Amino acid sequence: MSNNLITVAYLAAIVLFILSLGGLSNQESAKRGNLYGIIGMILALVATAFSAQVTAYSTLAVAVIPAVLIGATVASRVAMTSMPELVAILHSFVGLAAVLVGVGNYLQPDLTLTGVEETIHLIEIYIGVFIGAVTFTGSVVAFGKLRAIISSKPLTLPGRHLFNIALLVATVVLGVFFMQAEGTGGFVPLLAMSAIASVLGIHLVAAIGGADMPVVISMLNSYSGWAAAAAGFMLSNDLLIVTGALVGSSGAILSYIMCRAMNRSFFSVILGGFGQAAGKGGGSSEASGTVSEVNVDETVELLGDAQSVIITPGYGMAVAQAQHAVSEITKLLSDRGVSVRFGIHPVAGRLPGHMNVLLAEANVPYDIVLEMDEINEDFSETDVVLVIGANDTVNPSAMEDPASPIAGMPVLEVWKARNVVVMKRSMGSGYAGVGNPLFYKDNTQMLFGDAKTNCNAILGRLQETSAAPALATA
Ligand code: NDP
Repeated sequence: MSNNLITVAYLAAIVLFILSLGGLSNQESAKRGNLYGIIGMILALVATAFSAQVTAYSTLAVAVIPAVLIGATVASRVAMTSMPELVAILHSFVGLAAVLVGVGNYLQPDLTLTGVEETIHLIEIYIGVFIGAVTFTGSVVAFGKLRAIISSKPLTLPGRHLFNIALLVATVVLGVFFMQAEGTGGFVPLLAMSAIASVLGIHLVAAIGGADMPVVISMLNSYSGWAAAAAGFMLSNDLLIVTGALVGSSGAILSYIMCRAMNRSFFSVILGGFGQAAGKGGGSSEASGTVSEVNVDETVELLGDAQSVIITPGYGMAVAQAQHAVSEITKLLSDRGVSVRFGIHPVAGRLPGHMNVLLAEANVPYDIVLEMDEINEDFSETDVVLVIGANDTVNPSAMEDPASPIAGMPVLEVWKARNVVVMKRSMGSGYAGVGNPLFYKDNTQMLFGDAKTNCNAILGRLQETSAAPALATA
C-alpha cells in the first residue's frame, strides 16, 4: 500500500474514532458510535498491516489471529457485571505493550537519529515505559480489587505520600543515568525504573478504596491512552499518537466528570485513602434501628395506590438480571396511568452507564430514564420509590453524617418520597462497605429476597389484578 493511501486510511480512521466518541455520549447514538469505532479500528489495522514497515506476515498472523479469537470469545462471554474487570485487564495489556515497545525500541536504536532528535526519542522511550509500567501494574491491581481477589479496602501505609514522592525522585535520578548512557548502556537504569514504576502503579491503586473504583477505572483508561500515545511517538506512528491522545484525554475528562458527580477532588481520589474510616470502623458506618418488612402483596398494594413511582436500580438488579421484569412492571403501571420514571446514579452498578445499558436492553424507553440531577428534586412529590438492588447510591449518610466514609458524595434522595421499598437479599452493605440508615427510616420498608424473583412475583400479581376487572366484565 502506498504511503499516501496509508495516510488517507489513517485520516479516515481518526475521523471515525472522533465520530465514535461523539456517538457514545448519547444512548440513542451509542450503537452507531460503536460501529464507527469498529470500522475505524479495522481500517487502522489493515492499513498498518499493509504498510512498508510490516513484512513479517507469518509472525503477525501467529500473534493476531489467536488474539482476535481470544478477544472475541472473552468479550462475547463476559457478563455485564464483570465488564469493569475486563476493561481493567485490557488496560493492563496496553500498559505492558507500551513497556515492551519502549524496551524493544531502545535495544534496536534508530541509527539515523542524532543530536536533539536522539535526545527526544530517548525521552519518549523513558516516559512511555514509565507510563506503561504504572498502567500495567495499576490495572492488574484494579482487576484484582474488582474481582475481589484483593480487598477493596484502601491500603494506607504510614508515610505513603512520602513513599510515592521517593519513587518519583528515584525515577528522575535513574532518568539522568539513562540519558547520559552511551549506546544501549542505559538498559539497566531503564529496567530499574520499570520496576520502580511498577511498584508505584501497585501502590497508587492499592491505596484507593472500593467506592472510588469507578474513577480509578476511567483514570487507568486515561493512562492507557497516554501509554499508547507514547508508543505512537516511539514508533513514529501518527495514528497511534492521535488515538492514544483521544483515549487519554477522554478518560481524563470522564474521571473529572465522575469526581464532580461524587463531589470528590480528583487529587484526593488518585492519591487514595478514601474509605479509610470504614476500614477502621470509624465514622458511623454501622447504621442501626428498627426495620420494617413488606411482602410482595403489600408492595403491589402500595403500587396500586400510587400515582407516581420512581425506580432506582443498582448493582443488585444487574446481578439478579431483573431488568426485564422491571421493564414489564413499568409498562403495566404506565398503561394504568401511573407516572413511572427511573433515577440513575452516575456510579450505580459497577461501570459508568451500567444501568442505562441494562434498561435499554430491556426496552425501557429512554425518556423515562433520568440522571440523578434531573430527578433528585422530584422524590418529595413521589408516592413510591422502588430501590432495586441499590445501596451506596441511595445512602443518606452521605448527606447527613459528615463522619461517614462516603460523606459529600451526592446520592439519590429516595428517603424524601412518601414510601420507599428496598429490594435486596439481606441487611448487608454495598460495595463501599458502609451501613445504610435508609433501611431504618420510618417510611422505608424492606422487601427481602432476590430482585428477579421478587420483581417477577410483583409482575405476576400486577397482571392478575389487571386481568381481574376484565374477567369480571366478561
Ligand atoms: P451497591 O454495591 O452499593 O449495592 C448493591 C446491593 O445489591 C447490595 O447491597 C446487595 O445487597 C444487593 N444485591 C446483590 N445481589 C442481589 C440480588 N440478586 N437481588 C437483590 N439484591 C441484590 O450498589 P449501587 O449500585 O447502589 O452502588 C454502586 C457501588 O459500586 C458504589 O459504591 C460505586 O462507587 C461502586 N462502583 C461503581 C462502579 C461504576 O462505575 N458504576 C465501578 C466500581 C465500583 P444484598 O447482598 O443484601 O442482597
